[in-house]
Amino acid sequence: MNRWFFSTVIIVPFLFACSSEREEERKTEGREHVESHGDEHAHAGENGKASWGYGGETGPEYWGELKEEFTPCKTGQNQSPVNIEMHRAVDHDLPAIEFRYKEVPLSVVNNGHTIQVNYPLGSSIKVGNASYELVQFHFHTPSEHAIDGKVFPMVVHLVHKDAEGNLGVVGVMIAEGSGNPAIETIWKVMPKKAGEEVSDSNISINASALLPQDRGYYSYTGSLTTPPCSESVNWMVLKAPIESSREQVAALAALFGSNVRPIQPLNDRVVRH
Ligand SMILES: [Zn+2]
Repeated sequence: MNRWFFSTVIIVPFLFACSSEREEERKTEGREHVESHGDEHAHAGENGKASWGYGGETGPEYWGELKEEFTPCKTGQNQSPVNIEMHRAVDHDLPAIEFRYKEVPLSVVNNGHTIQVNYPLGSSIKVGNASYELVQFHFHTPSEHAIDGKVFPMVVHLVHKDAEGNLGVVGVMIAEGSGNPAIETIWKVMPKKAGEEVSDSNISINASALLPQDRGYYSYTGSLTTPPCSESVNWMVLKAPIESSREQVAALAALFGSNVRPIQPLNDRVVRH
């Protein structure tokens, strides 16, 4: 580990200490981008009920009660994740996802719920006429979505945003197998403490390294899987998994335990493939 690495470790316990409630908000999928560009500024929380988590009194079954803006977590009818039943998925001529990801300097955040890699502007996906910028990607263990009830040991969610702010999230299932070099790169520097961020311009990462060869996918309209559980997320769950080692999965679980929201009802929605 070189000196440069240590000199670029950014510790931000300040954020954590001064506004735990706000800290919770900024962790939410898809919102980090706004945060990292400084558009949003700290405001005092309305009440002391701060954090959400994956168990106990702030676990998923209570998210909808914790704050008013988390209401969709309990009232939403189009929530994620879901169990994708292959035989019920409608065969549809979905456009291929064109991935236009670039290699970028590595910037990794431990936001208290997951390990997240922030992406600078300039990488995108094109799906039919829609174009989304890659904002960040992060991991859950085990996978949040299930395919025919099968849950994978880990998943990566690649979070994209279009010009109107609509989210398109690509989920890539991670099966147990050989060690994944891209994950290795991230795990090597990932901060162990919530609120810490590591940026190292000497290390580069390309999100393409987390994509399988076969990019066929399931598509449906869902939500963020973390509070505020906002809906109208265009979910694209790739059919083919990538691999990582058992040790790599264990390393994430050692930091966060099981960081997954339970499966939500599909209700009237249709999954296409
Ligand atoms: Zn996620």
